[in-house]
Amino acid sequence: MLDYDACRKYIQEEHYCPHCNTRLSCCETPPFHVGDGLGWGSDVLFICLNDECSLFANSWARFEEQYGHSSACRYMLVPGEPKGSAMMVQGKAAFTGSIIDLDVVKAQNQRHADELDYVAQFDTCVAEKNLEPLLKVLLDDKADPKSRKRACDLIPKLKDLSCLDAINNHKFTNKELQYCVNIAIPQLLKACFKKECPYCKEVIKAQAKVCMHCNKDLD
Ligand SMILES: [Zn+2]
Ligand SMILES: [Zn+2]
Repeated sequence: MLDYDACRKYIQEEHYCPHCNTRLSCCETPPFHVGDGLGWGSDVLFICLNDECSLFANSWARFEEQYGHSSACRYMLVPGEPKGSAMMVQGKAAFTGSIIDLDVVKAQNQRHADELDYVAQFDTCVAEKNLEPLLKVLLDDKADPKSRKRACDLIPKLKDLSCLDAINNHKFTNKELQYCVNIAIPQLLKACFKKECPYCKEVIKAQAKVCMHCNKDLD
């Protein structure tokens, strides 16, 4: 995750492309490295995204002619380095989607700080019957899967059925987590002396012989 304070500092830096004199865009470093296999050593890169840039325009034609494939070079500068270099990119759109948006970085940082805050409450929330931190983390698809699983394991202990709809309505893309949820829900119902009607899915008393919602016989 990008650090907000670091990004704010980088975005204020002004660097210009030596080929076209366009101000370089502050972009998020891609997770792969095309060149020597070493990392970039930086979370952000300054890149010339000008399509009219002579380096980009000329390399585009040269690669096409020499190798017959659609790639080109853009001018790139690693923060803190005195000189930049040409970086190979696949297609015009490369990096245009990775320009750093401070508002997005700020929101990501805030979400992460909130998650840590909620997780810190896990140890006390069962005793305090405080469902919120558990539910917030469990239903946050960006939260750490390990913390989400912990939240899922703790939820039945609170014996609070008010979370049932929110959990049932959430689409868990993480299969392992969905499996944990499928175990936790019957545990929660059981702890509250309830069960789910197998026909209409409504919550009913554990000892009910007939469903009060759909009138089906449960024996
Ligand atoms: Zn340029
Ligand atoms: Zn029913």
